[in-house]
Amino acid sequence: ASISAADLEKLQVLGHGNGGTVYKVRHKHTSAIYALKVVHGDSDPAFRRQILREVSILRRTDSPYVIKCHGVFDIPGGDIAICMEHMDMGTLETLLKNGVVFTEQLLAKICHQVLSGLEYLHAHKIIHRDLKPSNILVNQKMEVKISDFGVSKIMQRTLDPCNSYVGTCAYMSPERFDPDTYGSNYDGYAGDIWSLGLTLLELYMGHFPYLAPGQRPDWATLMCAICFGEPPALPESTSENFRSFIECCLQKDSGKRWRATQLLSHPFLSNVDAKSA
Ligand code: ADP
Ligand code: MG
Repeated sequence: ASISAADLEKLQVLGHGNGGTVYKVRHKHTSAIYALKVVHGDSDPAFRRQILREVSILRRTDSPYVIKCHGVFDIPGGDIAICMEHMDMGTLETLLKNGVVFTEQLLAKICHQVLSGLEYLHAHKIIHRDLKPSNILVNQKMEVKISDFGVSKIMQRTLDPCNSYVGTCAYMSPERFDPDTYGSNYDGYAGDIWSLGLTLLELYMGHFPYLAPGQRPDWATLMCAICFGEPPALPESTSENFRSFIECCLQKDSGKRWRATQLLSHPFLSNVDAKSA
């Protein structure tokens, strides 16, 4: 039986973002718990078309490493609601803020799952374009799933995209700023690999790699560092496999960056048991 909006009872707010508000909801008859993302309707039909296009990506995907969508509803007034599986540990950003220490071993387990998700998406010609800790969800079973599909792309239409969406811009790869210089064989997929590298580095170091802990991002400086500086790297105290893995993700020339499938056989991940991960 399909779920309808009237069957869902709001329990609490799980998160706010650029795209709208996410609620924890309970199905009145089955008591099943879901996450309901309500994306605020807009009078602009282009905005609405974009949301629906992203929703269609979500409905097309079927992978244990990508958040599952159970239905999409129109809400009177023009809002659109997406009913998803609920992830009870929140995002990797929440875990980081709560002081979870990401060891190499834990990161390898997380990385293996995110990479499996990216491999699936890329094989289905989907580029995420906004991979970062707050868009990767976790549950008690330590299952890790990619979420928030390109909804933020809509938001980049605003007049001041970089100030309002530093998060999105901050994880952008050099070729997305300057494809001529950094994009040999540029096809878009490699941008997600860059974002994965930065995400892993951030989780390990405890702060965004291009900024000192607590430093506020200044957009122009950040973009210069990404495009003209050396890519960030791990300290010598980490294992050679981990350092090499990050280096393969953070090649500035997108053509030299490893693909998801290649990275899955990198030695950094060779001790991850895919079943228990
Ligand atoms: P936005 O486009 O607004 O960033 P997201 O889909 O990233 O929207 O959701 C915003 C926040 O809501 C997330 O960062 C997370 O904290 C929470 N959230 C989203 N989906 C879920 C889910 N399925 N389970 C639990 N929490 C979620
Ligand atoms: Mg998000």
